[in-house]
Amino acid sequence: MKAPVLDIESPAVYRLMPTRLQEKIGEDKTRCNLCLWRCGLHHGQRGFCQAHVNRNGTLYNLSYGIISAMDVGPIEAKPVRHYRPGTQVLSVGSYGCSFRCGGCHNLEISWGTDALDQLARGESRAAFVPAEQLVKAAIDSGVQGIAFTYSEPAVWLEYVLDVAEIAHQQGLYIVYVSNSFVTDEALSLLKGKVDVLCSDIKSMDDSFYQRICARASVAEVLASIKKAHELGIHVETRTNVIPGYNDNEDELRAIAQWVKDNLGPQSPWHVTRFYPAYRMADVPATPVETLQRAAEMGRQVGLENVYDYSDKGCDCADENAPVSSYLPGWTSLHEVKKCADSCCGDDGILLKRYEREANPSSVSEVK
Ligand code: SF4
Ligand code: SF4
Repeated sequence: MKAPVLDIESPAVYRLMPTRLQEKIGEDKTRCNLCLWRCGLHHGQRGFCQAHVNRNGTLYNLSYGIISAMDVGPIEAKPVRHYRPGTQVLSVGSYGCSFRCGGCHNLEISWGTDALDQLARGESRAAFVPAEQLVKAAIDSGVQGIAFTYSEPAVWLEYVLDVAEIAHQQGLYIVYVSNSFVTDEALSLLKGKVDVLCSDIKSMDDSFYQRICARASVAEVLASIKKAHELGIHVETRTNVIPGYNDNEDELRAIAQWVKDNLGPQSPWHVTRFYPAYRMADVPATPVETLQRAAEMGRQVGLENVYDYSDKGCDCADENAPVSSYLPGWTSLHEVKKCADSCCGDDGILLKRYEREANPSSVSEVK
């Protein structure tokens, strides 16, 4: 597997791309209908995400073709477990998000306020990557799919759709990692273009959502996830369990029950570990026991595919994905002393859990 390489020897010219879902709502006002903010903007104004601007009555996406982060890794790290397991994806994201999560780990590459300001002022020096070029980078990297992640993909849906069309022609699949605060119109555009939705269910409490997005409600988020499922998109859900915020048993049970009732008992539910960041730097990381309890509750309500990510491999791994997702043939892990993430390199720290257990076959599956 090669690292992703973009051919920027002959860069294409950056251009503003008209916002895909926009409507005039007054003499001097246009509404963006990509996400449920449905921002109504006058000339010169930008939406909540900062990535769409009104120029003389027409909305434009500033972030089209602007890549804030890119990486290659297993689809299981998204996390997605029941679609093309064992394959690799090129993950990409851009600036602009519809939420402002207090524990966001991606501030620079997701909100990207400075980067979007520079784009709006015409002062950005960021490389512009046409859709064809991104698909070529994916193929050159040897991956089987492209994942739109790191921030909310609805915010640059114009690019997502263009890439998806070309990627499908080249036999690649598309993963869309979302907060699901999106409109029905935007979801309908995903049909036939996006193969997998990996969506957060952050809480069953409206006040949780309103702290990170004044307009959001649990019902809207859940309705979006259900609609994606009804559109025939493969859906997997994830709950990042945050101590003191969404870790009480009633709430976790209610999320699991919703998944079972609306997506089916076989629908995968991933419970992941919170790590302190940004405005929530004072909140401790989720105890392993809490994740295991959450997973157990999911199984009790009847979910057949619950994954808890209490073991992220080693202390310095960036992603809290389980070891088995990095190395499907993980029985060799103990021998090669390889870190599960890219943080240590091949000579890195031996995974603590495996160091303790000389016989890897005694380690239970993460599922
Ligand atoms: S994507 Fe959402 S937040 Fe951004 S301008 Fe459109 S409606 Fe507003
Ligand atoms: S939805 Fe994701 S990228 Fe956006 S603010 Fe929340 S954690 Fe950050």
